[in-house]
Amino acid sequence: MAELFYDADADLSIIQQRKVAVIGYGSQGHAHALNLRDSGVDVRVGLREGSASVRKAEDEGLRVLSVADAVKEADVVVILAPDQVQRHVYRDEIAPNLNEGAALVFGHGFNIRFGYIKPEAGHDVLMVAPKGPGHLVRREYVDGRGVPVIVAVEQDASGSAWDLALSYAQGIGGLRAGGIKTTFTEETETDLFGEQAVLCGGASQLVQYGFETLTEAGYQPEVAYFEVLHELKLIVDLMVEGGIAKQRWSVSDTAEYGDYVSGPRVIDPRVKENMKAVLADIQNGAFAERFIADQDAGAPEFTALREKGEAHPIETTGRELRKMFSWIKPADSDYTEGSA
Ligand code: NAD
Ligand code: MG
Ligand code: MG
Ligand code: MG
Ligand code: MG
Repeated sequence: MAELFYDADADLSIIQQRKVAVIGYGSQGHAHALNLRDSGVDVRVGLREGSASVRKAEDEGLRVLSVADAVKEADVVVILAPDQVQRHVYRDEIAPNLNEGAALVFGHGFNIRFGYIKPEAGHDVLMVAPKGPGHLVRREYVDGRGVPVIVAVEQDASGSAWDLALSYAQGIGGLRAGGIKTTFTEETETDLFGEQAVLCGGASQLVQYGFETLTEAGYQPEVAYFEVLHELKLIVDLMVEGGIAKQRWSVSDTAEYGDYVSGPRVIDPRVKENMKAVLADIQNGAFAERFIADQDAGAPEFTALREKGEAHPIETTGRELRKMFSWIKPADSDYTEGSA
């Protein structure tokens, strides 16, 4: 059984006595910075000059400094820039300014697991990774709840890295929901696998194929959109509440029977073999290498794939439908349709 942590297992005063620099103010960065601030922690945000995030952070009353200056002031440095730029920021701005004994906190283990960042021996290296998008991490905290976190210590230089990690996890509200003990390797490999095979890659491809199958058969795209995309959330909510079993209990017997007989026809054993190949490429570093090489070349593959995804007819149908109905109000204002 995994080791679990709750608020009662942590001491918030540890992080309250530290000076924290949050580097990056995107999805996770804004949530960590604001939640820590509201938990009584001394927070500053480190950003590039001219970053669009500077105003957002200042509008929330946070102090914004250059990355170098934020790091110089801090004894806890939280690296929440995009994974593909972290190693540059670390080499050029963090490492040269890092105080002796300062702790490094990550929200995902990518750069440590694949060796792109190699911190020196004197620093605690921790991970507090919320298992949810940053905007939910903030919203849940404000509502008095939290998003579950997984917590790891890669390097315990101080001998008290775990106490700091749990205190930090409490500060962002994660231990209200609960924390699970993990390692950088387990978090990195399972996170990449989950998002590639099931949550992002698998689900997106499944929805697109479903939409294509119905529209190519002559059904209206608007009706297809509801059946294969919109209702997915309702089904997933039931799964989160009570597993696949509760979802099957809630749907009609017709739907449940169709689930049993057609699910394995659509997602057949070859899919599991494909998943194993995806996992192997994560574990052997091939995915990380491909991602970083493309990013270093200016992201030509990434940009082309993003454009192709946005041009899929399901996006056009959805955009028009969502304008006409009142049932969906975006809770997060940063995202604008078609601007991803
Ligand atoms: P993001 O793209 O939303 O935001 C990145 C931020 O970093 C922005 O504020 C950007 O301005 C800033 N930035 C970019 N280049 C910079 C530089 N050179 N110097 C300083 N700041 C710079 O990123 P994100 O999705 O929040 O991801 C941050 C980390 O959190 C990653 O390690 C990611 O894997 C992890 N994570 C993200 C989520 C999520 O919900 N998005 C969930 C779990 C873990
Ligand atoms: Mg994840
Ligand atoms: Mg991830
Ligand atoms: Mg239906
Ligand atoms: Mg039923």
